[in-house]
Amino acid sequence: DVHCCVPLCQASSKCNSLLSFHTFPSDAEIRRKWLVAIRRDKFTVTPHTRVCSRHFNKDDVREPLSETGRRLLNKGAVPALFEWNNFTLPTSRPGHTSPTVLSKGCLEWLLMGRSHLFLNCTLVPSVTNRSRVSLEFSPF
Ligand SMILES: [Zn+2]
Repeated sequence: DVHCCVPLCQASSKCNSLLSFHTFPSDAEIRRKWLVAIRRDKFTVTPHTRVCSRHFNKDDVREPLSETGRRLLNKGAVPALFEWNNFTLPTSRPGHTSPTVLSKGCLEWLLMGRSHLFLNCTLVPSVTNRSRVSLEFSPF
């Protein structure tokens, strides 16, 4: 059976038939990005080193065309979802360094004291610093 090489990830093909296990890309630049992403900079990659599909944004994983086919990754896909970031993507997109704010609708929910709905909100990158919102959860 195949194991995932990502620290803190226990996935193996033996007990996770829904997961797919991906070999490192042959492109040196993308391979380097993978190593940085999984925090194994000095790691030696062999043809058997795999990263499981849990770590990829689902837009980067292409479902097989046939039942027996293998899942493939989009060209240039880099693993981004890990135990240490709770398997969520950072909200800022590459090229956008502005702080992240809540959308207007989320803010209204928060102001109504419904902060538990925060998890259902979508984070949007802000356009200007002026719209930055700092969140403070005070007990009611
Ligand atoms: Zn894994």
